[in-house]
Amino acid sequence: MTILNTSFDTLYQTAPFSRIENDHYLPAFLQAIKEAKAEIDEITNNPETPTFENTIEVLDFSGEQLDRISSIFFNMNSAETNDTIQKIAQEVSPLLSEFSNDITLNETLFKRVKAVYDIKDTLDLNSEQNTLLDKKYKGFSRNGANLSEYKKTRLREIDKASSQLKLKFGENVLAETNAFEMHLTNEEDLAGLPEGAKEAAQQLAESKQKEGWLITLDYPSYIPFMTYANNRELRKKLAIAAGAKAFKGNEHDNQDNVLQITKLRHERANLLGYKTHAHFVLEERMAKTPETVQHFLNELLEKAKPAAEKEFKDLEAFAKDLDGIDALQKWDGSYYAEKLKQKLFSLDDEQLKPYFKLENVIDGVFTIAERLYDLKFEEIDTIDKYHEDVLTYKVTDLKGNLVSVFYADFFPRPGKRNGAWMTVYKPQYIKNGKNSRPHISNVCNFTKPTKSKPSLLTFNEVTTLFHEFGHALHGILANTTYPSLSGTSVSWDFVELPSQVLENWCYEKEALELFATHYETGEPIPMDLIEKIKASATFHEGMQTLRQISLGLLDMSWHSENPSAITSVKTHENKAFENTKLYPDVAGNCMSTAFSHVFQGGYSSGYYSYKWAEVLDADAFEYFLEKGIFNKDVAKKFKDHILSQGGIEDPMTLYKRFRGKEPQPEALLRRAGLIEK
Ligand SMILES: [Zn+2]
Repeated sequence: MTILNTSFDTLYQTAPFSRIENDHYLPAFLQAIKEAKAEIDEITNNPETPTFENTIEVLDFSGEQLDRISSIFFNMNSAETNDTIQKIAQEVSPLLSEFSNDITLNETLFKRVKAVYDIKDTLDLNSEQNTLLDKKYKGFSRNGANLSEYKKTRLREIDKASSQLKLKFGENVLAETNAFEMHLTNEEDLAGLPEGAKEAAQQLAESKQKEGWLITLDYPSYIPFMTYANNRELRKKLAIAAGAKAFKGNEHDNQDNVLQITKLRHERANLLGYKTHAHFVLEERMAKTPETVQHFLNELLEKAKPAAEKEFKDLEAFAKDLDGIDALQKWDGSYYAEKLKQKLFSLDDEQLKPYFKLENVIDGVFTIAERLYDLKFEEIDTIDKYHEDVLTYKVTDLKGNLVSVFYADFFPRPGKRNGAWMTVYKPQYIKNGKNSRPHISNVCNFTKPTKSKPSLLTFNEVTTLFHEFGHALHGILANTTYPSLSGTSVSWDFVELPSQVLENWCYEKEALELFATHYETGEPIPMDLIEKIKASATFHEGMQTLRQISLGLLDMSWHSENPSAITSVKTHENKAFENTKLYPDVAGNCMSTAFSHVFQGGYSSGYYSYKWAEVLDADAFEYFLEKGIFNKDVAKKFKDHILSQGGIEDPMTLYKRFRGKEPQPEALLRRAGLIEK
């Protein structure tokens, strides 16, 4: 346990984790909400004429205490949770959304914001202030603040109906996922599966008091079966069951929900003066318009399609050769791809892991940050933490000035959710001339060391560490005035650039030499292994690109046109898939009815972002490749124009300042091996 020393948290004003008890949270939230409300009241009650300073700026700095408590609490709920914390989360979440609704629906506040917005051309604001003013104004207008009472009422109705439909959509997908299970009693039916997957299937059966093995549509069960199971009929059964989710005409069918959700989204966009839902969403993204996204996806499609078709033909030939398969079906793809991959690369995690001892990888990523951005990471034990596994660092510049506090929490525990993420305990901002530095954290779930072996990472874990550390650098190097524009507070299709670009260093000899040495012998990673890693990373990149494009186009097809004439979900979907189809269609299957990203989550008109971010990172990294991956000038440009700038300007403007031109898809296509180098 951390020994409490009350002076710790005053050093950098870090969170006093070890002194926080669960029953402190709720009263703290209530108090902070009260204070934040009082701060808003102070703005609305100000008798002076609204100005940028007394309204927009004050609004952005309001609620600081509430933000800090929220970030600590919700990070605990992800990284070190328990039943009590989860219960508090359920109590607190409605309070927080009520508070934020109170702000967006506050008409007096909006009047003041609008008064400033209306005279913005006369104000002589700098570009960051302009962005902040736009953002604050849109926070109201995009929620209907400019509408007549009648239209406002309709907007509230739409929002209420939409959120219920989205909830229902998700419940249906979940119910359909849980409703199916494939019960196997003959061990031969599991032939091909790795031992781990077999064991899991057996345990699942046991947990339901059944003999034999159970396979379900949950990914940890579904994916290994589709990838390894030799029995083609069973793979077919499983794939068809997965593809038919919420498309069977039963009580959990989502076809009607899809149509209703898209129609309501369209109506909402029209009410607010936008042509379609995609126009509404993309206004706040780097891509800006549906036309740009369509053009982007189609250009990528044109270039990736020949490679995808060739890969598909080769895979089909391989399957025919191996098992006499005549026409490759959906349920064959992963299975034969895995077999082919094994044949071509014979690369497995166990070969690589000895070269990636966690401590070495951390040192490596720090050294890279030091060489690129002149940062120094020093482990310190004078900062309070929430668990003994958490490492704490002081990040300084070359002159020894504090740049950031950095937390790293790498190992799984019962109270931690899966995955890896970057988090901010305190944002960076400049107030009263003082640059207040951020507190940034990375949370991951890597293999824990044992008594006999240190933590050895798979290559996938190595790239994950680099990815999250790239997000961390975006936070650590932040240098803006306003907290809501700082660090990773950027548009969705821009936020993955710093994280994805850093992953590129994992594939470069010059970078690997810094840290990828055998944990026992100290011998550097052999070149042929690096080459294999690179080659296998682009395996079937054409087909994968085509798949991502197809989902991006499907998303856009639902949201960039008036959907009122669409009556059949399946017919509409087939039309959207026309140019990206590789496998024969299965009549009883539908993607849209289980496309939770878009119909339940927040990815509507945003699915393209995955590929968009890859284009950005490949194009940005190519600049480093041209000049050298440790080139100081390129690194300085990346830091000055991207990493330190948060969302203070349009991302395309920032990007062009760094790169000297707009991003081009060619770098991605070259890296993916889809066009000649
Ligand atoms: Zn990310």
